[in-house]
Amino acid sequence: MSSDSKMMARDYHKAMAPFFGSDEIGSWVNGAMMPGRGDMFDLIDPATGKAFLTLKDAGAEVVDAAMQAASAGQKVWWGMTAAERGRIMWRIGQQVRDHLDQLALLETVSAGKPIRDTKVEVLKVAEMFEYYAGWADKLHGDVIPVPTSHLNYTRPEPYGVVTQITPWNAPIFTAGWQLAPALCTGNAAVLKPSEMTPLTSLALGVLSKKAGLPDGVITVLTGLGTTTGVAATTHDVTRKVVFVGSPRTGAIIASQAAQNIVPCVLELGGKSANIVFGDADLKRAVLGAQAAIFSGAGQSCVAGSRLLVQRNVVDRFLDMLVDGANRIPVGDPMDSATQIGPINNDAQYQTVRRLVAAGQKEGAELLAGGIRPEGAACQEGYFLRPTVLGNVRNEMAIAREEIFGPVVSVIPFEDEAEAVAIANDSKFGLAGAVWTQSVDRAHRVAANVRAGTFWINSYKTINVMSPFGGFGASGYGRSSGKEGLMEYMQPKSVWTETAANPPAAFGYAPE
Ligand code: NAD
Repeated sequence: MSSDSKMMARDYHKAMAPFFGSDEIGSWVNGAMMPGRGDMFDLIDPATGKAFLTLKDAGAEVVDAAMQAASAGQKVWWGMTAAERGRIMWRIGQQVRDHLDQLALLETVSAGKPIRDTKVEVLKVAEMFEYYAGWADKLHGDVIPVPTSHLNYTRPEPYGVVTQITPWNAPIFTAGWQLAPALCTGNAAVLKPSEMTPLTSLALGVLSKKAGLPDGVITVLTGLGTTTGVAATTHDVTRKVVFVGSPRTGAIIASQAAQNIVPCVLELGGKSANIVFGDADLKRAVLGAQAAIFSGAGQSCVAGSRLLVQRNVVDRFLDMLVDGANRIPVGDPMDSATQIGPINNDAQYQTVRRLVAAGQKEGAELLAGGIRPEGAACQEGYFLRPTVLGNVRNEMAIAREEIFGPVVSVIPFEDEAEAVAIANDSKFGLAGAVWTQSVDRAHRVAANVRAGTFWINSYKTINVMSPFGGFGASGYGRSSGKEGLMEYMQPKSVWTETAANPPAAFGYAPE
């Protein structure tokens, strides 16, 4: 098993070289690297816990220069024809495809995600640019049949400069996810990726220039949330903020943006219920439950972290789940056999371990995992064996808080009404799933669970063509699909008088 293999040699500089050469890595501003002016901070390899690169926080001065460049770049971009914008976006997608292996390697080395996952995520980024490239020349307003002698039509217009803040759990995926619709609609995007994982977002900036994107249309700010992030979200050039991250930070960012009357999209966390009925195909449901919570080491906003299992099959189901959890290969993310890599950072690792211990204190039963895996590759860094907690009640902290690690809380239920009640007894509403062979029940449960995305006999399938977003504390606004585009446009209503002698409705007509 891969966990027994020694850690594969890492050449961080080789992974960075295709994108940055020997340039000092700073922020991507106006089509070039701009050094930071703030404090130094380290990038840590999650698989070793060791620093491999030191960067400088961009700081307010760099943010200001970036915003001015973005504002100028946006005017150039919006001045091009929609078809030209689409062609350039398509070429960005092509650049991503051409650099798939290098981008995946850089993401794996710097974010700790298994190489088998990063290859899929990078491909999805190419698809995002290609999908929205196709939309670029198909966006238009409406002619509205107003009951007057006027021609009234709408023009969908960009906001201008949109600030985007993204997290560490899916760095290049969330970057492409928000950059592509922003560009499609004629905006310039100022992206501030997580300070823990900025490299692949910066690489996207570099590749976009190779694709012919005018300078300033994509900016990538390297830096901390509390300095660079605050400066970007409160800068008076920012006309919209799109945030992907934790609910706590989301609330702060919404209030920062509100200072300038700037609207937000918030894509936040979840505590999704994955519901298994006794009549389900249990083997498929077990596989689905593993993918739902263990892929990405559980660091997924849609993770099926509450596993609701009907009481008449719970013992049989748990046997299969625990057996799977004990056998999933955990190890070096560079190894193509590895399915679970490390948790991204030490703070998150400590949070996950603390919550597992708190769950046990509250009476949950540790059925699998909860420990550092054996094997040479897992002795440093932030590894945890896939963890199954049984006998969980929905009131426990492990069923209420987003753990964001490979930890599933199994909650038994009696019948459909109880399953739906438990699923909805959460402040979150990001995703959910049901496993059953009953068609009517499947659609009833899909309708009754409060969540922005719901799967029937499946888990985690998402696509850039389909809208995505949260109910409740999981956020507001939508990403992906045509709904995602709407978030990046504001309609302007234009009125033209068409009558030869319009009747005066007000005032004195001049002689
Ligand atoms: P986080 O909220 O700690 O940080 C996210 C980003 O916000 C980082 O780039 C950080 O630098 C920045 N930031 C922090 N304070 C800021 C401030 N005051 N102003 C501006 N920027 C600031 O989130 P995280 O720990 O990086 O990511 C994990 C969270 O992301 C989880 O809750 C997960 O569910 C969520 N997430 C949601 C989705 C979704 O689509 N709903 C997708 C991926 C991740």
